[in-house]
Amino acid sequence: MKIADDKVVGIHYTLKDTDGVTIDSSAGRDPLYYLHGYGQLVPGLEDELEDKDLNEKFNLKVKPEDAYGEYNKELVYVLDKSKFPDPTKVEIGMTFTSKTSEGEFNLNVIALEGDNVTLDANHPLAGRELDFDVEVVEIRDATKEEIEHEHVHDANGHQH
Ligand code: ZN
Repeated sequence: MKIADDKVVGIHYTLKDTDGVTIDSSAGRDPLYYLHGYGQLVPGLEDELEDKDLNEKFNLKVKPEDAYGEYNKELVYVLDKSKFPDPTKVEIGMTFTSKTSEGEFNLNVIALEGDNVTLDANHPLAGRELDFDVEVVEIRDATKEEIEHEHVHDANGHQH
C-alpha cells in the first residue's frame, strides 16, 4: 500500500534546523499519525510523502514557503503592559492566545522594554528552512468516520 489521499499514515521523524540542531523528534515516542490529503502536515512534507511505501526512509529539506511561511514583520505588535491580565507577570518567552474574527493565533512575547511589550504572531518556525528525516512506519485505509471527521482516531476509537 502506498501513501495517497484518505490513508492514515504513521511516521517517525526528526526535524532539524539548517545548522543540524534538533527542533523536534518522535524518537522514543509514538509515531505521528495523520490523515493524508488534508493539510495536516506542512505542505512540503505532505507532498513528499505522497506515493511513499511502508518502511521507506528519506531526508527532505523544506523551504519556508512550503513549511510555516515567510517571516512577516507586520505580525509583530507592541502593546502596553497594562493591557495584559496580569501585567507584573509578563515575561519574554510567554505565549498568549488571541481570538479574532480570523480565528485563534498565538502571540509570543519577544521583547520587554519599560511598559512596552513586543508580541510576535509569526509561527516560531516561520522564515526557517526545515530539515526532516522521515520513516514511514504505518499505512492503512482511513475509516469512513475518520474521513468524515478529517482526522485520525486511535485504536480505542475517539481521541477528541
Ligand atoms: Zn473524530
